[in-house]
Amino acid sequence: MAIHTSQKKEPAPVVLRCAVPAPLYTALDYLPPKAPADTNNPVIVPGVRVRLPLGRRTLVGVVLSSHQNPSVASNKLRHVDAVLDDEPLIGAKHLALLEWAAGYYLHPIGESCVLGLSPRERRGEPPAATGQPGIALNDRGKGLPQGALSRAKKQAQLLALLQQRPHTITEIERQGISRAVIRALTTKDLITRFELASDRPFVCREPLVANPQQKSAIEGVCSNLDSFACHLLEGVTGSGKTEVYLQCIAATVARGQQVLVILPEIGLTPQMVARFESRFDSDIALLHSGLADGERDRNWSMARSGQAKIILGTRSAVFAPSHALGLIIVDEEHDVSLSQQDGLRYSARDVAVKRGQLFDCPVLLGSATPSLESMSNAVSGRYRYHQLQHRAGGAQAPSKRVLDIRGLDLAGGLSETLRQRVEAVLAKDEQVLLFVNRRGFAPSVLCHDCGWSAECDHCDARLTLHRRPAELRCHHCAQRKHLPRTCPTCHGNRLVSAGVGTEQVEQVLQQYYPATPVYRVDSDTMTGRQSMANLTNTLENTGAGIILGTQMLSKGHHFPRVTCVGVLDADTLLFNPDFRGEERLLQLLTQVGGRAGRAERPGEVVIQTRHPDHPLIQAVLEQSYDQLANTLLKQRQQHHLPPAGAIAVIRCDSRTLDAGMEFLQAVAQPADRNARREIDRYSANLIGPLPSPMARRAGLYRCQLIVHGSERREVLMAARTLQRIAASLKAPTGLRWFIDVDPVESI
Ligand code: ADP
Ligand code: ZN
Ligand code: ZN
Repeated sequence: MAIHTSQKKEPAPVVLRCAVPAPLYTALDYLPPKAPADTNNPVIVPGVRVRLPLGRRTLVGVVLSSHQNPSVASNKLRHVDAVLDDEPLIGAKHLALLEWAAGYYLHPIGESCVLGLSPRERRGEPPAATGQPGIALNDRGKGLPQGALSRAKKQAQLLALLQQRPHTITEIERQGISRAVIRALTTKDLITRFELASDRPFVCREPLVANPQQKSAIEGVCSNLDSFACHLLEGVTGSGKTEVYLQCIAATVARGQQVLVILPEIGLTPQMVARFESRFDSDIALLHSGLADGERDRNWSMARSGQAKIILGTRSAVFAPSHALGLIIVDEEHDVSLSQQDGLRYSARDVAVKRGQLFDCPVLLGSATPSLESMSNAVSGRYRYHQLQHRAGGAQAPSKRVLDIRGLDLAGGLSETLRQRVEAVLAKDEQVLLFVNRRGFAPSVLCHDCGWSAECDHCDARLTLHRRPAELRCHHCAQRKHLPRTCPTCHGNRLVSAGVGTEQVEQVLQQYYPATPVYRVDSDTMTGRQSMANLTNTLENTGAGIILGTQMLSKGHHFPRVTCVGVLDADTLLFNPDFRGEERLLQLLTQVGGRAGRAERPGEVVIQTRHPDHPLIQAVLEQSYDQLANTLLKQRQQHHLPPAGAIAVIRCDSRTLDAGMEFLQAVAQPADRNARREIDRYSANLIGPLPSPMARRAGLYRCQLIVHGSERREVLMAARTLQRIAASLKAPTGLRWFIDVDPVESI
C-alpha cells in the first residue's frame, strides 16, 4: 500500500476582527501587522487598539476578536499598521458592554466602541498618566539660599514652598500662586516637572444613623455585592436617598471595589461631589462634558486603574472603564437627560442595568418619581423595591392645593391668591419657588387685527419674544429676528404678545417686590458650569427671596429655605401629545413640589390651572406617586405601550418632505419580496411613514416610521431588518436617517 504524504497545508492565517470608527454596522477583518520574517507575531488580545487603514485614511480601531475564518479571502485583506497597546485598554466585560450597546441600539460598532476610550486614547495616544502634575526644585534651584528671589514676591513664595518639599500644581494654585509664576521659575531654570502618584487612602467619616427604611435599603443592596441585582429606591425628595448612596458606597469601597455613580445633569455634579467629599477622603474620577480634555483623560485613567474608588459622571460615564466595579448607582433615574439623543442613542439607565449584569454587581436606581419602566420591573419583582416614605430628619411632606384661575386677572401669570401666599412667605423671611414652563418674555407675538403670528422661517414653530435683548427667537434653531413695529400682513400696529415666559414673570415680580431678590433660572441665565452650584449656595445663606424658572428647577437641586412652590400654569403640560405626557406631568409636579419644605419648615405647593377637574390634577392632590404610577401603568398595558410593549422609530431628515417620505416608504415596503416577507414574519406593527409633529426643524423636513409591538424581541428584530433594508437603499443627497430604539419621545 502506497503511503501518500498529503501536501502540507499552510494553517489559515490569524485574522483580527476590528471595530473601526466609521459608519459601518459590522466589524472589519484585518491581518496582523507585517512583521519582519524572523520575529514571532505578538499575541494580540481583544480590547487592544490598532492603527489601521480604511480607504485612504488611517484610523484607530479596537480589536474585538481574532479568528481564522475571514469574511473575505485572506489575500484580499489589509494589514493593520500597528498594534498600539500591550494590554487591552478595554477589558473583556467592558468590550462586551460596548458590543451589546451597538447591537441593541442598532448603531455602528466602531462608533460605539470609541465611547470606551478617552479623548486622547481615541487619537491613538497612550493613556494619560494618573499622577498629579507637580513641580520640584532642580539642582540649580536647590542651590539657591533661603529668602532668594525676594524682589519678586510671588516667586519667592513659590520658592519657599518648594524648599520645604515638592508640590502638585493644584496645591500651589490653592496657595494663590498662578501658573505664570511657575512659568517664571521654569524660565529661570530652577524647577523640574514630575508626576506625583496619588496614593491617597480612602477615608470614610461617621455616617448618619440610618432610619429603618434607609437601613433596609442599604442592607438589601449591600447583602450581596458580588452578583447582579437591580434595586429601585423610591424616596420622596428629602427622604435621604443620598445618605443611602453614601452608605452603600462606603460598604463597597471597604471591600476594595469601585462605585460608578451616574447623574442626569452636569449641574448636579458639584452638589454631589460636595456631599461625597464631606463624607469621604477619596480620589473621585469626575467625568462630564464640561471638563477639559486633559482632565477627562486623567480621570479616565484613574477610573481604569482603580485609583479612583468613586467614578462620578453624566450619562456617557456609563461607558467609562473600571478596575473592580462593585456597585452602580443611577440617581434621578426617571430623568430624560439620561438619554443620549444623537449618535449612539442610548439610555444611560438601561445601559447601567446591562453593565451590572455583565460585571456581576448590583445596580441601584434612585428617584422620587421613578419611570414607569422601573416601576413595572419593581412591581413584577424583577427589581427589588425599596421605599423611603418619610422625609428624613423630621421634615414634613408639603401640603398641596389647586387654584382655579379661570376668568381671573393674572399679573405675570400670578393670581391674586398666589401673590398673597408669596407675600406671606416672604414676610417670614422664607423663600418661594415659581415654576414657569417657558423661557423668554412671551411664547408668541400676534397681530390683534388679522391674526398673524411671528413664526420661524426654518421650523414649524412660533418665535418667542425676548426682552433682553429685545428680539424674536426660535427655540428650535438659531433664528433671531427684530421685533416688527407693524404687522407684516395687514400693516396694523396692534401687535400683542401672548402667554407668559420667565423674563416677564421676573419683571412683574421685581415691580411687586422691589426689595426682594429674584433669581431667574433658565438656560439663558444658567450658562456657566458652576452657576447652579453658586445659586444654591447663595440661597442657602440668604433669607427671603424668589426663585423662578423652568423645569431646570425640578432636577434634584436642594433649596432648603423654600417653603412655597407655585406652578404658574399646569395646563401647558396637561395636553401633551406624547404618550408619556401624563407621566412627565406627574413627575414634574411631584418633583417641583418636592422642593418645598425640605428642612424643618413645612411647605406648600400651589398649582394654578384652568382645568381643576382634570383627573390627573385631582389625582395629584389625593394620591401618592406610586399609586398614580400604577394607574398610568395599567393604561399603558391596555395599549401595549412601553413598558408593556416596545417601540423603535426610524427617523429621517431631508431637504423635502417627499424625499423623506419616499425613502421611508421604500423601507417599509421594500421592492425585494424576501425582505418584505421577513418584515411580515415579526409580530410588530409598522406605523407610517408619517411627518413628525414638528415636520420642519432648522430647515429640514422630518418624518418617521414607527415599529410597535407587545413583544420587545419582535420589535427589535423587525427594527434590525428595517435597518438593513434602509442601509441597502441609496439615500438621496441631503437625506439622513437613523434609528431610535426605546425613544424617549416617540412621536
Ligand atoms: P434625598 O437625596 O432623598 O433628596 P438627602 O439624602 O439629601 O435626601 O437627605 C435630605 C436631608 O436629610 C439631608 O439634609 C440629610 O442630611 C438628612 N438626612 C438623611 N438621612 C438622615 C438620617 N438618617 N438622619 C438624619 N438626617 C438625615
Ligand atoms: Zn395683521
Ligand atoms: Zn427655528
